[in-house]
Amino acid sequence: MKILVINCGSSSLKFQLIDSASEDVLAKGLCERIGIDGSQIVYTPFGGKSVSHDKITTVTPMKDHTVAVQLVIDALTDPGHGVIESLKEIDAVGHRVVHGGEEFSTSVIIDESVKEAIRKCSDLAPLHNPANLIGIDACERLMPGVPQVAVFDTAFHQTMPEKAYLYGLPYEYYEKYRVRRYGFHGTSHSFVSARCAELMGRDISELKIIVAHLGNGASLSAVMNGKCVDTSMGLTPLEGVIMGTRSGDIDPAIMQYIAAKENLSMDEVMDVLNKKSGVLGLSGGFSSDFRDLEAGYNKGEANCIRAIETYCLRVAKYIGAYAAAMNGVDAICFTAGVGENGPMIRAKICEYLGFMGVKLDDIVNAVRGDEAEISAVDSKVKVFNLPTNEELAIARETVNLC
Ligand code: AMP
Repeated sequence: MKILVINCGSSSLKFQLIDSASEDVLAKGLCERIGIDGSQIVYTPFGGKSVSHDKITTVTPMKDHTVAVQLVIDALTDPGHGVIESLKEIDAVGHRVVHGGEEFSTSVIIDESVKEAIRKCSDLAPLHNPANLIGIDACERLMPGVPQVAVFDTAFHQTMPEKAYLYGLPYEYYEKYRVRRYGFHGTSHSFVSARCAELMGRDISELKIIVAHLGNGASLSAVMNGKCVDTSMGLTPLEGVIMGTRSGDIDPAIMQYIAAKENLSMDEVMDVLNKKSGVLGLSGGFSSDFRDLEAGYNKGEANCIRAIETYCLRVAKYIGAYAAAMNGVDAICFTAGVGENGPMIRAKICEYLGFMGVKLDDIVNAVRGDEAEISAVDSKVKVFNLPTNEELAIARETVNLC
C-alpha cells in the first residue's frame, strides 16, 4: 500500500509518501507559510522517474490547506519528478493529530464522530487540533473515498495509571475539566520502545524501558511491559524537561511573581514560558539549537555551559525518577534531534546514572544519527541511540486499520 502521511500545522503541512511493503519513503516535503505571503512547497522525490533526489522548491500562492494538499498531489503525480502515476495509487492517508484527550487510546479511521471528538479536544491543543482538522478536511475534499486515519500523539500514554496522570490539584478539576497528564510524542515513544525490544531480542512485555525523546520539544516516558506508565509532558507540551524554548517544570508561583515584576499578562507569561525559555532563555538568548550550544560550550562560553549543564541534570533526574516508578530499568533509549545527534549530551546525562550501573562505551557513543547500542559491555542497563521515525509509525498504524 502507498500511504500519504500528513502532519498539519496552522501554517505548514509536512508530508511523506511511504510504500508500506518496503517501508521506503517515495517522496517527502513541506508546504510553508500557508495563508501567508511567500508560501512555498519544498518537495524531495526518492522514487519514480526522477533520478535526482534534490529538493525542489516552488514558491507559489497557497491561500489555504486545500490548495496545499492539491500542490502535494500535483508534485507526487508530476510527469517529471512525480513518484506515482495518479492519485488513485494513494491507498490511505495517515494524519498526525496532536491531542486525543481521553477519548482515543488507539489510532482510528476518521469519520464525522471522530472529527467531532478531535474538535472537542481543541480546548487542550488550541494551536494544533484545529490545524489537524483543516488538513483532514482538505484531504477528504481532494481524495474522496480514500480512508483517512488519525494517529494521536497522546494515545500511547493513555495506559498510564491514575496515580501517574493525576496532579495534586482539587480532584473536581479532573472531573469537570479533565485536567490531567496526557503526554505527547506518543508515536515516537511507542516506535522507539518497540524497536529497542527488537534490538535486545526480547519480548517488550518483559522489559522496563525509558525513552528520552530529546528534540526541540522533549519528553521522557517510562514503558513497562510495553505500556506507558509515566511521561514527562502533561496537560500540554510545556511540562517536563527543559526544551529548546520551553521551560519544562517550574514552580507555578513563578508565573504570578514574574507577571507582577515585569508587568505581564498571563498570556504574556505563557509566551515567555513557551517561546523564550528553555535552553534559549538559559543561554541568555544565545540559541535554542544544540549545535550552537555545543560549539559555544566547547569554546568555554558561560551561557552555553549553563544551558547544557542545567538541561542534562534535568533529563538525568527524570530518568532516575522513571527507574523508581518502574522499580528498575533494562534499557534507556535516546532519540530525536538532540538525543540522536548529541554524544556529549548523552554522555553528560549518563554520568549521573552510574549509581544505576549505567556505563557508556565512549567510542560507540560518538555516533550521530545512526542506530547503535552505546552502552559498555559491562553496563547493567543497556543504552541505545535510536533514531525515531514518527512518519513510518503513522504509516504502519494506518496500514493496520485499512
Ligand atoms: P527535532 O525536534 O527532533 O527535529 O530536533 C531538533 C533539534 O535537534 C535542533 O534544534 C537541534 O538542537 C538538535 N540537533 C539537530 N541536529 C543536531 C546535531 N547534529 N548535533 C546536535 N544537535 C542537533
